[in-house]
Amino acid sequence: MASRNEKIYYGIPASPGVIIGAVKSLSFETRTISKEIITAPEEEIRTFREAIDNVKRNLEKTADKIFQRLGPEFARIFEAQAMIADDQVWNSNVEKRIKEEKICAEYIYFDEANRVIKQLGNSSDAYLRERMQDIESVTSKLVSRMKGEKRSTLKGLKGATVVTARYIYPGDILALSIKRNLGFATGIGGATSHAALMAKSLSVPAVLGLGDISEKLPTGTRVILDGYKGILIINPSPATRKRYREIKQSEGQLKRQLGQLKSKPAVTKDKKGIGILANIELPAEVPKVILSGASGIGLYRTEYLFLTKPEFPSFEEQYRTYSSILRKMGDRPVVIRTFDLGGDKFPGVARRKFELNPFLGWRAIRVCLDQPDIFKIQLKALLKASRYGNLSVMIPMISNYEELTQTQRLLDECKMELRRERVRFKEDIPLGIMLEVPSAVLIAEFLARKVDFFSIGTNDLIQYTMAVDRGNELLSDLYQSFHPSILSLIKRSIQAARTQNIKVSVCGEMAADPLGAVLLIGLGVDELSVSFQYVGLLKKVIRSIDFDSARNIARKALRMKSEQEIVSYLEKETKKRFPDLENIMAFMKRNSNG
Ligand code: PEP
Ligand code: MG
Repeated sequence: MASRNEKIYYGIPASPGVIIGAVKSLSFETRTISKEIITAPEEEIRTFREAIDNVKRNLEKTADKIFQRLGPEFARIFEAQAMIADDQVWNSNVEKRIKEEKICAEYIYFDEANRVIKQLGNSSDAYLRERMQDIESVTSKLVSRMKGEKRSTLKGLKGATVVTARYIYPGDILALSIKRNLGFATGIGGATSHAALMAKSLSVPAVLGLGDISEKLPTGTRVILDGYKGILIINPSPATRKRYREIKQSEGQLKRQLGQLKSKPAVTKDKKGIGILANIELPAEVPKVILSGASGIGLYRTEYLFLTKPEFPSFEEQYRTYSSILRKMGDRPVVIRTFDLGGDKFPGVARRKFELNPFLGWRAIRVCLDQPDIFKIQLKALLKASRYGNLSVMIPMISNYEELTQTQRLLDECKMELRRERVRFKEDIPLGIMLEVPSAVLIAEFLARKVDFFSIGTNDLIQYTMAVDRGNELLSDLYQSFHPSILSLIKRSIQAARTQNIKVSVCGEMAADPLGAVLLIGLGVDELSVSFQYVGLLKKVIRSIDFDSARNIARKALRMKSEQEIVSYLEKETKKRFPDLENIMAFMKRNSNG
């Protein structure tokens, strides 16, 4: 039973895990800077310059360290901040105001930052809005330096802590990652924010998009952060705390059990092998993929190369990134997906003009085919890198036949040009497409004749079939992975693949759900691709079931009328037929019962 004070805030699950602890608030808005009058402006300007220089040098040092530890994508975040600190126009404006207004430097810098932040906050451009967070970060550092504060944001934290802020800076997350038992909860931020990416890559539990919690909750408030469900529970009752302590205990036990399966093959009890591959966003995840026991990379989302940049990455940069991933993965298969820009991903780069419905708009292959010069740079970088490993190329968001033939023509053109330039590449790189738009599934028999594999993107297939924005929490009940229409589209995709004997995998989140995996395997998919954190879980599922039963379960599920009916049937049958999954099912069920 909930206590009278217990309150649940709903946000976006950004990184899995549970933290039972107390809040440490890092709110920017609540920071007060007094407007101190100064008598010696020249002296103040000298101190300001020293502080700026110090902040800039520290940011450059951090960028170097992070380059070593996590790679260039993360380092760029700090390089961008160092450039903000070094902005000559901004800094000379601050100095001018110090002279004219005779007010302390930190107040003027903070005032200037707020003015720019307000402008950026009103922008419809997500890239610009993210720059706002970089400005906040630089301003906080500068103010702390000017006031002689030590940047002790997270030092001295004891016990389990949930750090809250409107936004948490990448540097703070890095500090978080070396402490145990920490998580974070932010007011803003979505799937594309630096914070979400860092949290996942560093395995720190996180919930984003919680509104104004950081202003509401003082440091010390007792909370539970549930990164699985994307909730923050304030003042949890003894009963809720007990339930979450149990969840954490079983999470620990489960992790240990699953860890033991790393080197075991993913085969069902009746000896049917299922491929388990990993989805990655960042090259820094490759070592974790190898450690997880995944047999390869089933989806590399290359659009994350735009993490901190407003322009398309160069040929050299792409070639370096792709070949380094391929080299590290050795013989293991690596599926690299061409840019899926647009929708909710980095619209700042891809968008030429405002779109009312970006998910139904200029996205993915549409963006690439409209800008063949840019697309060809990516295709050529992929071709040139192909010599270093076991590469397949995958095209997102195909919705008609011509998009595929146009892409293939461009690919052939790239091959011809590379031959002319005497650049070597593999001639037989498999080419596949994502099936994530219903119109493509409905013509999949034709598409199958032209490609080497299909990968079903359930994240988008569900949103486009159900007419439900995948990022809109108001519609989460309508976002139904197990809706009969989804099952039937998946079945149809598999049947189409069979006509040409090509492989079908699933790389959407449905593959990481045990019930989803049982159903997908029963429907006949060959491979599942999930974040490296879920590889052990999938191995357990596959080694606990028999293919024959999964097939019968799927066959019956295909005749049902609603998600509710299908889910309760799947739960009942899984319990009855696959007793080895009892632990996992009990954990998942408890975790989804509020
Ligand atoms: C999907 O749509 O299921 C998918 C894997 O791609 P993304 O989540 O990147 O859109
Ligand atoms: Mg998709």
